[in-house]
Amino acid sequence: GRAGTTNAPQRGDELLGGLLPAGMDRRACRSRYESWRYYKYFPYAASPHLQRKLRAYEARHRRCAPGTPLYAKSVEQLRSGRSADAMECSYVVWLPFDGLGNRMLSMVSGFLYALLTDRVFLVALPPDSTDLFCEPFPGTTWRLPVDDGDFPVANLVPRGQDIERSYTRLLDGKVIGPDANATAAGVPPYVYLSIGWQLKDPLFFCGEHQLVLGKVNWLLLYSDLYFAPSLYAVAEFQDELRRLFPAKESVSHLLSRYLLHPTNPVWSLATRYYRSYLAPVKRRIGVQIRMFRYGTIPADDMFNQILACSRQENILPETDDGAEDDDGGGGDKAVATRSADNGGSNSTAILVASLYADYYERLRSRYYVHAAKGGERVAVFQPSHEERQATANMAHNQRALAEIYLLSFSEELLTSGTSTFGYVSSNLAGVRPTILLTAYGHKVPDPPCRRAVSMEPCNLTPPKGVQCQSKPPKEDVERHVRVCEDSKNGVKFF
Ligand code: GDP
Repeated sequence: GRAGTTNAPQRGDELLGGLLPAGMDRRACRSRYESWRYYKYFPYAASPHLQRKLRAYEARHRRCAPGTPLYAKSVEQLRSGRSADAMECSYVVWLPFDGLGNRMLSMVSGFLYALLTDRVFLVALPPDSTDLFCEPFPGTTWRLPVDDGDFPVANLVPRGQDIERSYTRLLDGKVIGPDANATAAGVPPYVYLSIGWQLKDPLFFCGEHQLVLGKVNWLLLYSDLYFAPSLYAVAEFQDELRRLFPAKESVSHLLSRYLLHPTNPVWSLATRYYRSYLAPVKRRIGVQIRMFRYGTIPADDMFNQILACSRQENILPETDDGAEDDDGGGGDKAVATRSADNGGSNSTAILVASLYADYYERLRSRYYVHAAKGGERVAVFQPSHEERQATANMAHNQRALAEIYLLSFSEELLTSGTSTFGYVSSNLAGVRPTILLTAYGHKVPDPPCRRAVSMEPCNLTPPKGVQCQSKPPKEDVERHVRVCEDSKNGVKFF
């Protein structure tokens, strides 16, 4: 399942080959410099251009972050009700929307957009997320200070997807537009970008509209998706994306390893569990089972789908069905020798992440009742079964994040289609997952799953039928962006 076999960066290179900045406080965020010990693959190194871009970004962020004079000036401008030309700092503010996987993907995409447009990336973290991620940039903060009531935009986080000051609404009201005044002076100080699954502002993905948005000092990003593949279809961004990421498959992999570092409490959960259950074995297989309301099927069918998929793609150890054990009649002596052989040279751990205990129970029982072929020792683990999503609860989110990281420490991944939780695990792991297809219309999918062409997440709702004046040639896009395995409407890098 892994992509390529490049060996850069070397194991033991805690900065991940120049991807991470040096010299940050180790104790404040242990995961940042320890993660290389847990990841199994390093399929892509950061290009020299990406490294330079990140270091330049970090310097800009330090200059413009909350607490600096330039930040104060930008907030003043925001209060004035107009954008201004020649502001030294302009911003993209990330807003929370949907579950943890969704949020991580929109953070990564929003940060990429900030890189491409020379903006500063700030996050408006809700109370349920304050202790999930470390500060990513050295010597500064990425948190938008909203609690002190000083930020001039009231009700910053939208309630629904219909947003009054979204780009399209402002276009319709002729408040802003490609034909409007050429200077920023006629442009509002902030604009919402509603580019989540309902995609209210599809024109965001047109070059001529990017020129307009370039004049807006503050962009408020409301998205729950990974939209990087659609940025590649904007002519203005294509060259730079090519230079930053010679391999398109590496975009989210590198950016999420750069940007997202779990805080110490989350890291403790993940690493403690890893050391107890996953470290001793030779091979770890992460299995992530997610059911959506529109795609539920009976648990028996779902379990059969998992097994059928596993057989098709050769993932989980096969069992000697029928045979009671495979010791070859060696009796007690053989058993004794085998249990003494604790090197784990022929052992596999299956890590199950799911809101429910059911599939874990079934898998565990399968390897309890049947021996695995070839005498392989198989253990099945599940860290938690929360029963229901509880995004407003920080402890729940910390466990969810720990599980995303535990999955990402696997050699092999079997994930659920259209789940952003699974997408993030795969791109952090650097693994091309096998994706269980969603049971649309509650029909058991056939085939049960597909092997992903890349470790990239799917942009589940890319712009469709939008007439942009400026677009790169279709062939340029098609060379690197294709339809997703698990969603015929979605697109992904490969
Ligand atoms: P998606 O809905 O599958 O795209 O993923 P999200 O992460 O955006 O939202 C699902 C949310 O449900 C997660 O953030 C968790 O809060 C919860 N959840 C779903 N699956 C799991 C799981 O396997 N383990 C844990 N701990 N929580 C989960």
